[in-house]
Amino acid sequence: QEQYTKGLEKTRKSFGEKLNELFANFRTVDEDFFEEVEESLIAADVGFETSMKIAEELRDEVKLQNAKNKSVVKNVIIEKMVNLYEAEGTNENNKIALDENGLTVILFVGVNGVGKTTSIGKLANQYRESGKKVLLAAADTFRAGAINQLAVWGERAGVEVVRGVEGGDPAAVVFDAMERAKAENVDILLVDTAGRLQNKVNLMNELDKIKRIIQKSLPHAPQEVLLVLDATTGQNAMVQAKEFKATTDVTGLVLTKLDGTAKGGIVLAIRNELHLPVKFVGLGEGIADLKPFDSEEFVVGLFG
Ligand code: GDP
Repeated sequence: QEQYTKGLEKTRKSFGEKLNELFANFRTVDEDFFEEVEESLIAADVGFETSMKIAEELRDEVKLQNAKNKSVVKNVIIEKMVNLYEAEGTNENNKIALDENGLTVILFVGVNGVGKTTSIGKLANQYRESGKKVLLAAADTFRAGAINQLAVWGERAGVEVVRGVEGGDPAAVVFDAMERAKAENVDILLVDTAGRLQNKVNLMNELDKIKRIIQKSLPHAPQEVLLVLDATTGQNAMVQAKEFKATTDVTGLVLTKLDGTAKGGIVLAIRNELHLPVKFVGLGEGIADLKPFDSEEFVVGLFG
């Protein structure tokens, strides 16, 4: 909880404080009050549609409970926000489907600069610390420097990296990585992929090819395809999520740089509009600054 509270400082300052202020000046729950709640939500990038939905449910619930007390109303807001998230399933969905008795392959997709490499490094470190044998595959052979960057993270996290050559065939890297993962009884293979190829069709073909190589070697893999999004880009992250969802079978999201934005509400908007679970959130640049997403901790963190 502490890390959430700290990582969400900016969002809390703009959104949480505004709500807290609203509560401090609280006299009565009237239409103005609901509208101000709605505005605070929209300002935090919860999204128009999602904000309206939360405010609407709040209106109904306040009426139903005949709530006049501000702490009750505040709890209803928190509950509505958590519920909105969990309506799509339980928090279980937020967890990675790790194969306990074999290899789990996690494919990372997303455009350049969103924090893909950093997130892979952080996650590799966590899994290694929890006693898993981890291997990384540097299959982003497209972006200059991507292979080296992943190698640096591999060293930092204390895990091996299978690397090809810049401009080489990513599928060949993935093939090698799968062979090695099986030969060395690796528990978790994290695969970095290129973010932007010449065009969408190209990207789709490339990801398909990588998936086919993985499946040839292990039919039920990859168990997860995680789309990495930069929370500071707000609604732009939403556009990327839509595009990638149409391009490949995304199973979940990693939302980075929540510490650098006042627009952390994007988590709720993406969940409500795209029905994709957020699996991890990035709350800083350090190796320990990646947390499994927990909707309750997240929402409570917004209120500080
Ligand atoms: P990639 O191109 O998607 O692989 O992006 P990188 O992993 O290279 O990350 C781009 C920049 O974002 C780097 O400077 C990272 O340190 C930074 N970054 C990644 N995740 C986070 C995060 O959760 N919080 C903050 N503040 N910075 C992050």
